[in-house]
Amino acid sequence: MVHVASVRTLLLTQGYEPIQIISWQRAITLIALDKVEVVEEYDAPLLRAQSIVVNVPAVVRLRKTFRRHAKPVKFSRVNIYARDNYRCQYCALKCTPDELTYDHVVPRSKGGRTTWENIVSACYTCNRRKANRTPAEAGMKLLTVPARPTWMPSVQVRVSAKSVPDAWRDYVYWTAEVDNEDGGAD
Ligand SMILES: [Zn+2]
Repeated sequence: MVHVASVRTLLLTQGYEPIQIISWQRAITLIALDKVEVVEEYDAPLLRAQSIVVNVPAVVRLRKTFRRHAKPVKFSRVNIYARDNYRCQYCALKCTPDELTYDHVVPRSKGGRTTWENIVSACYTCNRRKANRTPAEAGMKLLTVPARPTWMPSVQVRVSAKSVPDAWRDYVYWTAEVDNEDGGAD
């Protein structure tokens, strides 16, 4: 049973990447403007007129390429965590924002700069262990090479696994951005 008043619609790029959660009313507007096409529907009729049934859109997809570069991603602590998927880049531990800090890959004392390319998310333990050393000196390996994100990882809106509508699952799970309420986060 879907309660139309609380229903949200997942907006995908043309390439099927989730970018935003919007209200179903906004989705209807985008459909009316021919900006998006419906990919999945909820089993909830929005409108019944004679033989026509219009369901509430669950997932919609942009018809045109989403211009990700229109707005550069702001360099901030939160966005660094999001880029790194809230994972310590040394021990791969999935953390809450409180459990994370940021680490200069090449320490500032060695000329390392505070840039997307030299800052990674780290848990406090790894941050302390690495101290004022490069990863090589500390014998620690980076999970991924840090880079400036060209767009923000999908579904910034934090949704719990239990509240993800079934109709979204095919589109949000592979992003690994969805919280797992059972704590068994991948
Ligand atoms: Zn760590």
